[in-house]
Amino acid sequence: MIKGEQIYEGKAKKVFATDDPGLLIVSYKDDATAFNGLKRGTIEGKGIINNKMSNALMRMLRKRGIPTHFVEELGERDTLVKKVEIVPLEVIVRNISAGSFSKRYGVDEGLVFSEPTIEFSYKNDALGDPLINDCHALALGLVSREELEEIKRLAFEINGVLKDFWTSCGVTLVDFKLEFGRLPDGSIVLADEISPDTCRLWDSETGKKLDKDRFRRDLGGVEDAYREIMARAEQGLGEVK
Ligand code: ADP
Ligand code: UDP
Repeated sequence: MIKGEQIYEGKAKKVFATDDPGLLIVSYKDDATAFNGLKRGTIEGKGIINNKMSNALMRMLRKRGIPTHFVEELGERDTLVKKVEIVPLEVIVRNISAGSFSKRYGVDEGLVFSEPTIEFSYKNDALGDPLINDCHALALGLVSREELEEIKRLAFEINGVLKDFWTSCGVTLVDFKLEFGRLPDGSIVLADEISPDTCRLWDSETGKKLDKDRFRRDLGGVEDAYREIMARAEQGLGEVK
């Protein structure tokens, strides 16, 4: 597979064309941003961890029948994926209150919901990824009704699989963000990444944050936390196999 021209550089990944128009290579960087790019930094080794973890989780989801963009891990930072048309929604699933949910609704972090919740942000950096509801997403033509139903169904199913997996690793899955895309045949698949950048992961016993909140909130031990969560995942994956 030939790594062609760079077609996009995002905040956490670069995207390259390949000699197959249906495939892309994503390359994970150590760059970290928060608060819509206002806070910037580097987390040494993050790209390697996120690439490996995202691929492991996508493989696990694929085994459970979830369609994903994942094709093949090419190197420690590079992965071959199916090119999709990204649905411009950040799909956020929550099991426990934290972050913007706690702030918006005035509840402490750590409230365990009786049922998982879902919300959408309009993926638009210039607007700061504003919260958007189903009707707005339909009115703006961002998704069709059928796609929206499929995305919600998949997101909750993914939550079930990931929650069980992280529990087996001694980790609580608090919340996470997913992105979905359309393949040329119109079908919806899970795209982008699932990593400590996009999930809140707390040690089940101590509550220690093992995710990007350590960077966002200047909690220290950022690199160590990424290494620790990867080690926990590897332990859990060993047991799944
Ligand atoms: P951002 O664009 O938010 O800065 P990244 O640095 O992670 O984020 O850049 C990766 C970009 O690639 C994102 O815009 C994401 O939506 C997009 N993307 C992820 N998976 C695919 C895919 N399979 N096909 C096309 N684009 C993808
Ligand atoms: N998230 C993400 N990208 C974003 C916004 C949120 O990956 O642009 C993830 C974040 O890591 C967390 C979940 O989505 O796991 C919910 O984030 P929240 O809405 O609480 O936003 P934040 O507090 O990060 O602003």
